[in-house]
Amino acid sequence: MSQADPSLSISNPHPDKTDAIQKAGLALAGLGLLTFFLAWGNVPIPKALGLAVALGGIIIGTTIYSWRLYKNEPEGIKNNGVMFKSLTSRGVIGWTVGVILTAFYVLLYWFPEYLGYKESGANEGFVALFDPLSQFFKGKPASQWFMYGTLYTLAILSLGIKFLLKYRGNSYQIKRTLVVIAAQLFLAYLIPEILAGLNYNDATNAQGEYLGYYDTDIKNTWPLDYDYFYDWHLDAMQEEAYQPVGILYLIIGIAMFLVFTPILTYYLGKRWYCSWVCGCGGLAETAGDPFRHLSSKKLSAWKLERWLIHSVMIFVFVMTAATIYGYFWNTGEVFGLNIYNNFQKPYGFLIGATFSGVIGVGFYPMLGSRVWCRFGCPMAGYMGIIQRFKSKFRITTNGGQCISCGNCSTYCEQGIDVRWYAQRGQNIVRASCVGCGICSAVCPRGVLKLENGPDENRTEAPAIIVGNESIEVAK
Ligand code: SF4
Ligand code: SF4
Repeated sequence: MSQADPSLSISNPHPDKTDAIQKAGLALAGLGLLTFFLAWGNVPIPKALGLAVALGGIIIGTTIYSWRLYKNEPEGIKNNGVMFKSLTSRGVIGWTVGVILTAFYVLLYWFPEYLGYKESGANEGFVALFDPLSQFFKGKPASQWFMYGTLYTLAILSLGIKFLLKYRGNSYQIKRTLVVIAAQLFLAYLIPEILAGLNYNDATNAQGEYLGYYDTDIKNTWPLDYDYFYDWHLDAMQEEAYQPVGILYLIIGIAMFLVFTPILTYYLGKRWYCSWVCGCGGLAETAGDPFRHLSSKKLSAWKLERWLIHSVMIFVFVMTAATIYGYFWNTGEVFGLNIYNNFQKPYGFLIGATFSGVIGVGFYPMLGSRVWCRFGCPMAGYMGIIQRFKSKFRITTNGGQCISCGNCSTYCEQGIDVRWYAQRGQNIVRASCVGCGICSAVCPRGVLKLENGPDENRTEAPAIIVGNESIEVAK
């Protein structure tokens, strides 16, 4: 058997050099994570102090590590060694992180008691660590969703700081990331929690049950927020204790889908939501940044994407139509089908939990950072149709400058073969493009520009058809 020539083997040309300060940063962040695990294991630690150490350690430790990592580097985006590191190249560490994330989501959705959440009685373990913060905001113990919202915000904040340092030479990336961090911190976390606290004591029904309608991410809009038109939510928005804000919230929710979203997408493309506002996009762009190159660029993935995202969109439309019918006609059935068992329950299980949570985030290290946004999100599907057929947004390409390096395609998290368009000098008008701008940021020749211009002449020929034919002919 012939032996492999060692001179032909490829090793990481940019091995990590971690200095003492970076190690201190990592140790601090590690201490934060360790505190979470100790709390989970019911090790008796003072809750308020433990939570402060965990949250502070992760934010400060990550900042120290990232500042040191990029401090001596010239401005410019570096993904050095990303194809060699175990975490970012589907190695053992990548798989381990993926399995841990996936297991966490399974517990969160279906077995929160294993995280320490108690429906009656005092919380324990991991969830109990968040009790002091929940008491501070709304005077009641934490739920697993309060814990999750805090962790989610922590991830976007700490890894958003890392992203800001990495892309500090690019003003589009800096503005976009500051906005997405602020949207998560204020609109998805602080404001809803404070509002819930303000109404907690007086907004209850005759049975004493809490009837909140904004104890949730207030920038989530239907159809991403798929239970917006569920009976309990429609009832809560009409609850006397919430007026006139409740009805206003309902009107704004409907207008978001029918008026604001189409208008903003027409002028700006879907990026206004997917890359600047949305929490799923926010997490993908910050925590998911090291995994963006793992998205499949295959034609088969593009075909699957179009089938899946539009199927989910139809599913949520049908489910919501059945729900509204049931609400107004006061029946639990439509065409003999039970609305909860045949529409809401399968959607919540398959799409709301499994697809968007377990697969959407748990599989970052295997499938890339935008699996949910690309293959599943009905909001992205809706805006994608507008972007593709009636929008001013496009990415223009200066084909003469392209050196075919492929950086743009490699780092497109939506799996778009950007280079293919650049080589032909063709504008990129794709339903799936979230306008993150990373293709343009990593291009060494300044070939790509994100623009909002006249919606005519965006493409000389329909880009989707041209793309398909070319790739199929080339096969
Ligand atoms: S084509 Fe460019 S802007 Fe669009 S999703 Fe891909 S990397 Fe982001
Ligand atoms: S990154 Fe720029 S130069 Fe490289 S293939 Fe893409 S458009 Fe061409």
